[in-house]
This record gives sequence, structure tokens and C-alpha cells, in this order.
Amino acid sequence: MAINTGDLNKLGDEKVTSLGNDILAAILHSAEDLMTGQGWLEGINKLLAELGKATAVSRVWVFQTLDVQKDFIVQDYSFEWYSDKKYKQIGLPHFNHFKSLLIEPEYTSLIKSRQKGEYQSVITEKLPDAWLKKYLRSQKVKCMLTMPIIIENQWWGTLGLDDCEREYSWSANDITLLRTASYFISSAIVRDNHRTKQHQLDILKENISCSSWELDSRRGHFWCTSEVLEPNKKIVSRQLFTFKQWLKCIHPEHRKPFLKTAKDFLTSSTPALRYDLKIMRSDGEYRWIEVSCNAIKNETKLNQTIAGIYWDITQRKIDEERLLLEATTDSLTGLINRRKLQGIIKAQFEQFTRDQQPFILAMLDIDFFKKINDQYGHNVGDSVLTHFAQLCSQLIRPPNVLARIGGEEFAIVIPDTNQRIAQNQLETLCRQVHQTPYIHQGKSINYSVSIGFTIIADTSTQANDAFDAADKALYHAKKTGRNKVMLG
Ligand code: GH3
Ligand code: MG
Ligand code: MG
Repeated sequence: MAINTGDLNKLGDEKVTSLGNDILAAILHSAEDLMTGQGWLEGINKLLAELGKATAVSRVWVFQTLDVQKDFIVQDYSFEWYSDKKYKQIGLPHFNHFKSLLIEPEYTSLIKSRQKGEYQSVITEKLPDAWLKKYLRSQKVKCMLTMPIIIENQWWGTLGLDDCEREYSWSANDITLLRTASYFISSAIVRDNHRTKQHQLDILKENISCSSWELDSRRGHFWCTSEVLEPNKKIVSRQLFTFKQWLKCIHPEHRKPFLKTAKDFLTSSTPALRYDLKIMRSDGEYRWIEVSCNAIKNETKLNQTIAGIYWDITQRKIDEERLLLEATTDSLTGLINRRKLQGIIKAQFEQFTRDQQPFILAMLDIDFFKKINDQYGHNVGDSVLTHFAQLCSQLIRPPNVLARIGGEEFAIVIPDTNQRIAQNQLETLCRQVHQTPYIHQGKSINYSVSIGFTIIADTSTQANDAFDAADKALYHAKKTGRNKVMLG
């Protein structure tokens, strides 16, 4: 006789034996723990022990299947009950996450049979002289019954009973009852998986304080959990909004763009959406949130639901804005820096190719600034630079742009202007600087500025040409007496 195996549904009816009753009682004893207890590990161990005692076998075990490939299988010896210490196998190094090659045809067909959900019942000495007989003999197993544990149609592992003392033929009823035991194990594992997932979710939520949300566009409902909207509330609640109420929570500036993005997302094949927007918290404060979601798209495209999470990113936005400001601003004067100016000039050239409105680029350099440093010290020099920046800011107002591009060097962009107006403006500035000394400890520090500028009125002009022309004009102003404005 070879391996007795088969589909459980095809086992015939037969009278329940006293062994059958014992197995049933064993399952019932452990079932409650498995289904309601906290620790499924203990629940499974208890079930194995009850089964072992009821069936008087030597060992009851559970192997978990970790990986099945074409030519190998990886398993782990996960649970065991033994009637006597000499039958103990759990913990043996070769049973710990062990890999077996699928070379033996007998073993390969055994694995295939388990994958299909079939049981296997064998009496070692009645097996053909092949691999399994040898294997079971080496473990001194006289008879064995194995039952696959199936979870969501996948072979999760195997429940096995080894008897090292008797040769026992399992009846159809025994097998059916043991199958029930494997079902209990499956559901305990599923329950544990859910608990683990829930736990992971809780950790995630605690660490990023995110809210879950769902938008049901068919019913016009939106619900979310309260973590972000009510951060000080200890107990998390689920808040239900009508679609209109929810829209009102979104910052007016973000409402339309977000709705458009959400609509585009629903009609696209993109699987996920991420979006930053501001919403009003229950205390009336606007906060930045990052929304992340997946669409549950129906084929009809009518009953669409979007669900996801969102979390508060206000601090991140503040940090980003600060970094951006730092990267584009001169820390001494608060003016924009050279990097930012380059971007603005690039944009100004692009604008010019579209509307051909002439604009001015001017370079400014404080005269004999080194002397101020030498005479009063570097700190006073700094104050003069700030004084100069403030004076210029009063005269050069947006949309005109004023930047500090180096030590005592500045630049000005005046859009949509002509040479005459711009020259007047710059000469006024030059005069004002000359007439407005910086007062240090009651003493006036007079200083002046030289300015070179150029007008960009020809579309063939490149940014570098403009910088060169303004620089040359500035050089000329320096050479011809300083404290003046020159056109390049
Ligand atoms: P010129 O009229 O030819 O421009 O003469 P200048 O003395 O202004 O020009 P020069 O280039 O010889 O010297 C500029 C000085 O500006 C040298 C440098 O020490 C000083 N400087 C550069 N950056 C700073 C700064 O941030 N603070 C202060 N206090 N001084 C600065
Ligand atoms: Mg200089
Ligand atoms: Mg100078």
C-alpha cells in the first residue's frame, strides 16, 4: 500500500467511534482558547496537546511553509506536542527554517498533494521501498497522518501526527475531525495576522498621527478619524461630513485645485494620489496636511470611492519655507541673493521674448567701502550695508527687484520701463545715498554708490551680455569719479 491520500469531501459517512468522540472533545476543549484567547501560540499548543492525548500518538506537530519553489521548499518546525521527551523534535537545528530539495519524486508528489489540500495517512512498513519509507524509519515513525493547513486558498503549513509505537489506520471520521482541528488552526492564524496588521497600523498612526478617511462620491459622504482635526482629544472618533461640509474645511485657495486633481485621478489609471493642502481644524486653525490615497474604482466609474490617510505636515512646510528663504535670501540685509536674482533675470528674459517690454539691469557698488571697514571696523561696515539696503528698498519697490550679489555689490532689475525713467530713478537713488549718511555714535558716516546699467530692448541680447554691459558701465562710473550713474 502506498500513501493513503485524498480529498476530505469524498470521505464516506461512518459511525463515530470512541476515538472520534475523544478527538472531538479535544478540539472543543481547545477551540475556545483558539478563537477568543489573546495568544494564539498557546492556543495552538493546547490544541496539539489535547489532540495528542486523545489520539495517544507520540507526537503532534505543525510545520509552516515559508517558501515553495520549483526545485526546493523551505519550512519551519513551528509547534509540537510530544508524549515523551524522547519524541521531541522541535528545536533541532535541522528543523529550523530548513530547506529541502524537491528531487525525490515521492516527496514532490507529497508536497503537491498537500498544496491541493489533501490529507496523507501512511503506515511506514506498508510503504514501497522508497524515500518516504526510509525517511520515516530514520525517525522511528510507525505511522503518520498529515493534514494541510490552508489559509485563503494557500497552503500555509502542515498539521502532522506521528506514532512511533503503533501502526494505526485512521478512519474517515478521525481524518474529518482532524481536518476540523486544522481549520481552527487556520482561523487562529488569520486572526493573529489581522491583529499583527492592526498593531502595525496602530504603530504607524501613533508615530505619524495620521487620520484615515474615505470619500464616497456616490452618497456624497466623507468621513475621517479625528487625529488631525482634533489633535488634543485622547479618544479618536470618526467624523462624518457631507461633501459640502468637507469642502468648506479645505482652504479656499486649495479647494478647486484639489477637486480638479481628485477628479483627474479618479478618471486616470494612476493607482495612488499624494497631495498637500491646507484644511481647517476643529479649533479654526488652518493646518497643512499631506493626503495619500488609493481609488477603489468601479468598472461603471459611477460609484467611486477614494480612501486613504492624511497627516499634519505644517511643521515640515514651515521648515521647507525657512530653508527656501535661507537659500534665496542674504542674511545680513534680508535682500534676495545672487542665486535668486539669476532665476528672476532668467524669468525676465523669458517674459521679454513674449511681450518685448524693455527692462533695466543695474549693478551697484559702494564707493571706497574698504575705507569704512578700515576706519570704523567690520561691524560698522555691516551696519552701513544694512543702511544702504534699507535706503534702496524705500526707493526700489516691487515689481522692481533689489538684490545683494556680493560684499558691497548690489543689483537692480526694473521691468517694463524705458531708459529715461530708469535713469531718473537710479540717479535719485544715487543722490539719496550720498545725502543720507549712516549715523554711528552720533557721527555721520557719509558714503556714496556708483551705478552702471543697461537696457534690454533687443531680443537677441543674452543675460551674460546684459551683465557685462552693466558691469562695464559701473567700471566706467568708478573710473570717472564714482557717485554717479552710467549707461552701458
Ligand atoms: P571701490 O570704490 O573701488 O569699489 O572701492 P571699495 O573699497 O569699495 O572696493 P574694494 O573691492 O577694494 O573693497 C570692498 C570691501 O568690502 C572689501 C571687503 O572687506 C568689504 N566687504 C565685503 N563684504 C563685506 C561684508 O559683508 N561686511 C563688511 N563689513 N565688509 C565687507
Ligand atoms: Mg566691489
Ligand atoms: Mg566698492
